Amino acid sequence: MFFLILNFSFAQKSDFKVINKPINYSEERIRLSLEYLKEHHGITQKSPTIIPKMIVLHYTAGGTVETNYNYFNKTHLESARNTLKKQSPLNVSSQYIVDRDGTIYQLMEPNLFARHTIGLNYCAIGIENIGSKKQLLTEKQVAANAQLVRYLAQKYKIEYLIGHSEYGIFRNSKLWKESDPKYFTGKEDPGKDFMKKVRLQVADLNLKDKPNN
Ligand SMILES: [Zn+2]
Repeated sequence: MFFLILNFSFAQKSDFKVINKPINYSEERIRLSLEYLKEHHGITQKSPTIIPKMIVLHYTAGGTVETNYNYFNKTHLESARNTLKKQSPLNVSSQYIVDRDGTIYQLMEPNLFARHTIGLNYCAIGIENIGSKKQLLTEKQVAANAQLVRYLAQKYKIEYLIGHSEYGIFRNSKLWKESDPKYFTGKEDPGKDFMKKVRLQVADLNLKDKPNN
């Protein structure tokens, strides 16, 4: 029995693997990220890094790892996204993307700035999942997200774990840094059920889902 337990915990650890698939963090992307940090979050820095305090889970609302990678890889936002483009030409992205089979891809270093959650990008790591409202996220994605959250919580002082749809609750908190009070978009991703399942697997980390103040 003792050996079985040991094997089990070893197997769980060795299952966790992250594939590096870096997007182009070009000089222009650095410039636009620094501009975004300054204009929207009121933070002036020399490098586009963040001190991660929060993890935000998302779904992509369609596509594959490849099509989403290609989308995030572009430095500039596509012209169709008018509301976002008015605020900054910097393209959206996330630090990680999880495929439907649970494979985790790292698109950039977790402490590099990515535009994925209004008001909170300066302190939040984004994890995208291939799926949508109709294409429900899988159990393998639940497990992979939980493992990734656990890994990141060991690496950084992560205090919060939220789904993108829950970010509005931070709007009147000290954590919220957005210079334009009207800049806000309603979100549904990644879904209540998914958040419930991931939270259950990392319950021991005691991550918060709402602000203290
Ligand atoms: Zn999202």
